[in-house]
Amino acid sequence: MSNQYDIADDNALVIDINNLTKTYQTGAGGISVLKDVNLHVRRGEMVAVMGPSGSGKSTLLFILGLFQPPSTGGYKVAGVDVLSLSRDQQAIFRREMLGFVFQSCDLLENSTVYENLELPLIYAGVRRRERPDRIREALGMVNLEHRLHQPSNRLSGGERQRVSIARALVNEPEFILADEPTGQLDRENSLRVLEYFTKITEEARTAMVVVTHDNMTAEHCTRKCVLTDGYLNG
Ligand code: ADP
Ligand code: MG
Repeated sequence: MSNQYDIADDNALVIDINNLTKTYQTGAGGISVLKDVNLHVRRGEMVAVMGPSGSGKSTLLFILGLFQPPSTGGYKVAGVDVLSLSRDQQAIFRREMLGFVFQSCDLLENSTVYENLELPLIYAGVRRRERPDRIREALGMVNLEHRLHQPSNRLSGGERQRVSIARALVNEPEFILADEPTGQLDRENSLRVLEYFTKITEEARTAMVVVTHDNMTAEHCTRKCVLTDGYLNG
């Protein structure tokens, strides 16, 4: 591998979070969102994180994706202390290892579906002539090939969510974080996405953390945790 993460072992420990806390500073002092979170995810595991609205699920996922730092605690990815990496090295981690499905989808609004999916491939240095096939394949997983050249701002909510999933998968990441990925999908499209998640978890031995409210989504996971009062149990 071109990076420093050693995940050659089929059951390698990918996510190793210990005694993690997060306090947001607000005008009225601090609010303590994560109090003592421990989470260990191996390759081939797809872990559901459930919990009421406002319990800190998105915060936890942003910390796992290195989009924001914890207040205290340790976080290793495949044995690497990622919190002590430089910004450049953290960017390499995101480009080479991670697929992230944002709750808000976060598509480039004035670009087409094709352009949205091409961006991670450009960052990863995939050659131009290889990109169309990779993009069509990723869109096929979410049944959206027919939207290839549609501008993102003309998609429905469910289509946006499926494009956002395809964009997270197009790079064949080792490690996927998905925030309510089926929240806007009907049953048929949810099942399609979940079956695909299961397939890459089993065959590509991906490590996945899926934040969800939905029982069907949680049932497709290999294990379930619940975030309550700042603690992750299960
Ligand atoms: P969930 O995804 O489970 O709904 P979040 O992680 O989005 O929960 O939010 C957890 C709590 O942290 C909420 O009370 C929210 O208002 C608060 N929060 C989230 N982001 C910030 C922020 N940037 N600054 C201050 N408070 C925040
Ligand atoms: Mg959330």
